[in-house]
Amino acid sequence: MSTATEINHTTANAAANKYVYFFGDGHAEGHGKMKDELGGKGAGLAEMTNAGLPVPPGFTIQTEACREYMRNGDVSKEVNRQMDEALKHLEQLQAQTLGGADNPLLVSVRSGAKFSMPGMMDTILNLGLNDKSVEGLVKRSNNLRFAYDSYRRLIQMFGSVVLDIDKKAFEEVFDNKKKQKKAKLDTELDAKALQEVIAEYKKVVKQHTKRDFPQDPHEQLVMARDAVFRSWQNDRAKHYRRINNIDDMLGTAVNVQAMVFGNLGETSGTGVGFTRNPATGVKEFYGEFLMNAQGEDVVSGVRTPVHISELEKIMPEVYQQLHEITTRLEKHYRDMQDFEFTIQDGRLYMLQTRNGKRTGIAAVRVAMQMVDEKLISKEEAIFRVEPDQLVYFVVPRLDEKAVKEDDVLTKGLPASPGAAVGQIVFTAEEAVERHNKEKDAKLILVRGETTPEDIAGMNVASGILTARGGMTSHAAVVTRGMGKCCVVGAGEVEVHEDTRQMRVGGEVFKDGDWISLDGSTGRVIRGKAKTVPPDPKDVKMLDEFMSWAEPFRRMGVRANADIPRDALQARAFGAEGIGLCRTEHMFFAEDRLPHMRAMIMATTEKDRRTALRKLLPMQRNDFIGLFRAMDGYGVTIRTLDPPLHEFLPKREELLVEITKLELTKPKSPKLKELKTVLNRVEQLHEQNPMLGLRGCRLGIAYPEITEMQARAIFEAAVKVAKEGVKVKPEIMIPLTTGLKEMANQGALVRKVADEVFAEKEYKVDYLVGTMIELPRACLVADEIAKDAEFFSFGTNDLTQTTFGFSRDDVGKILTSYLAEGILKQDPFAVLDREGVGQLVKIGLEKGRETRPDIKIGICGEHGGEPSSVEFCAQNAFTYVSCSPFRVLTARLAAAQAGATAELKIEGGRTK
Ligand code: ADP
Ligand code: MG
Ligand code: MG
Repeated sequence: MSTATEINHTTANAAANKYVYFFGDGHAEGHGKMKDELGGKGAGLAEMTNAGLPVPPGFTIQTEACREYMRNGDVSKEVNRQMDEALKHLEQLQAQTLGGADNPLLVSVRSGAKFSMPGMMDTILNLGLNDKSVEGLVKRSNNLRFAYDSYRRLIQMFGSVVLDIDKKAFEEVFDNKKKQKKAKLDTELDAKALQEVIAEYKKVVKQHTKRDFPQDPHEQLVMARDAVFRSWQNDRAKHYRRINNIDDMLGTAVNVQAMVFGNLGETSGTGVGFTRNPATGVKEFYGEFLMNAQGEDVVSGVRTPVHISELEKIMPEVYQQLHEITTRLEKHYRDMQDFEFTIQDGRLYMLQTRNGKRTGIAAVRVAMQMVDEKLISKEEAIFRVEPDQLVYFVVPRLDEKAVKEDDVLTKGLPASPGAAVGQIVFTAEEAVERHNKEKDAKLILVRGETTPEDIAGMNVASGILTARGGMTSHAAVVTRGMGKCCVVGAGEVEVHEDTRQMRVGGEVFKDGDWISLDGSTGRVIRGKAKTVPPDPKDVKMLDEFMSWAEPFRRMGVRANADIPRDALQARAFGAEGIGLCRTEHMFFAEDRLPHMRAMIMATTEKDRRTALRKLLPMQRNDFIGLFRAMDGYGVTIRTLDPPLHEFLPKREELLVEITKLELTKPKSPKLKELKTVLNRVEQLHEQNPMLGLRGCRLGIAYPEITEMQARAIFEAAVKVAKEGVKVKPEIMIPLTTGLKEMANQGALVRKVADEVFAEKEYKVDYLVGTMIELPRACLVADEIAKDAEFFSFGTNDLTQTTFGFSRDDVGKILTSYLAEGILKQDPFAVLDREGVGQLVKIGLEKGRETRPDIKIGICGEHGGEPSSVEFCAQNAFTYVSCSPFRVLTARLAAAQAGATAELKIEGGRTK
């Protein structure tokens, strides 16, 4: 479970052997910078306590205890000793005893890791209640119903989190009781009914665990603490860490804190909020609360909460105090805060504060405002935006002109902006299933509310719609982090998960029906709505922000684009050239495929050349368009790469058609033709086409293909250059493994160039280089560089061949590898620095030995992924190339890498 280095590292840290940090009474042993030890929540509680804010006292058991627990299945005696000491201290401070018979101390046991993982781990409230102390609570609160409700909540939470009993077992008891008492709302169950529920809950516990619900408060505490430690390893927490690139070895801290009660009646309540609007970044006090409720009622989305401005009317002093405190917190942390509070009998308590998650647009706006407000410097502002978040600026929005009022089904809360169009799915599992079957499936996950268990399904959906919950509900917070469109709290939407139906205003929608969401206004729309590109005003704001970051960027950013439209799009996002133009995509067009097929079917070189001549003018036109669009920027064009069979019909389809014709029209000429095609398909068939006749191997077997492509490129270049447009073609030979292949194809290209220049009496500058995408190429890169004038690392194939993973089938393996922690990330998404990265470095160094100023690029999917971009920047690549929609992300990631080096800022992208 852990490695030697981790153990050394952590035992060194724990040398001081301080496991438990107390906070309370205006003083904390820890402080806000100790996130490694105390986790974000613990560090925040300590910092707030030290600042004299009203925080219920308690103590934090540091993350090292969690790592101990992971290593040994238990914590050391010292942890227990220090915990007991802190508990005694807390009891003295409160003048109460944990679970005491009269005036009992009750605590919450809260998880909290270094990086916030909202709702992914567990928290237990009201701990310390048992058959005796519940009577003490009755006396103290003078509220029978409240006390029994707290007790039944504890058994329920403890039962599911600590004892691993299915939540449904408790829900069933509760629902039956409601039915029996003819109660609609939970709050309609009176004290007596709740006592009956408690009795039945206890039976559920006994039945599932073969023992009684623990009455000993200390035993409750130890069990709860260990369960929180274990929750670090639950599936949803692991999944969240994978998506967010968080180290599995960090562990969580545990916060034990005196309870305050927001459910004591109408002068009590609980809420959450932000110091600025997390969706737009606009500076406004922003939050939601519920009167007479306990914390998780607000975030779970069970009841739809009320806007914070209402609090000003209900309890003006409390509102003022909250506003003051949170404004102070923001100044102190110099970042937007996300906070939790509880009001007990008219008194305000702060329960949490942290830097708030926000959308990309909000991130940019808040960063810029804070520079204006002189809270942070421009250099700091650059790092306040995650490069991935910039996708927000390029996601589509609804085309307002095309929206018909009649199609608007209802309106919920605009939780996370952008538009999403997709087919309804009702469960996260089904979303994942659908996605695995069809990678491009557009899905809208429709739920009553989402829970942390839904995380995998949310990740693959295009948009999320929930019937309940507010702007700070789970769905809202998580999607904002993901940069995904989300509408929550659409109260008119009835979700029936059991029958797989959604009802809105009498209309029924089923699984697979299309709907559209507008995360910027909250509208839910029937069918497939039209979408348009982003708002120019936001883009303008982004431009200014980028103008602060860009001076630090030392590396170029290009785009992968095959057609002029994509090239123009990429330039609009700031691409400085094309890093990969895949020529084969040009052959799939309807008017071209027949010629391509004729070329493949040809049995002689002469016939092949005839077919290729038909393709030449078409290909030439493609390049003319690209060169014009890129107006002076480099354009890297790769010669034909995929195996030829990809251009022919599938063998199975041919067989079906042939059988049909044999039965119906055995004499038709079509049948004869199909049989020849089948014959050729069978000739071309390969067991492992990815390792077969493709890349430069194809160009070596059929030199006339490379010749035709080179001719199209140079003729186009000359034509455009004569028009006065600057052109710089870079011809790239795919899949070389050594110098001879490179030299073979390089010679061919240069020969054609000379011919064309002679014919046209005009010359253009060009380069011939290669893709480095096989391990052998990295190892002999010094040789290859004798002929190749540039390298572009094709890290998709390089990852595939280094790991020996087929990238088309790796899904099945990855699932278990990631779950087992064998791989930390999908190596096809995030460049594997340890292995693939090492090969890249070897290739670079060897290439530079031969040709010191050799141009180096990357054109795999990694070119738009921040951590991989950072790797490229650290290794002085000339450029990265990525899909047009990731160009902004790559630009910012490259700028941040540059700023990190130049300003000597600690820590890179990897968390
Ligand atoms: P999460 O990290 O999932 O937000 P928390 O540890 O913050 O989990 O706890 C969940 C909910 O319980 C929060 O809404 C919080 O306000 C509430 N809560 C936690 N501790 C206390 C406490 N000591 N008194 C009252 N409410 C609490
Ligand atoms: Mg919280
Ligand atoms: Mg490749």
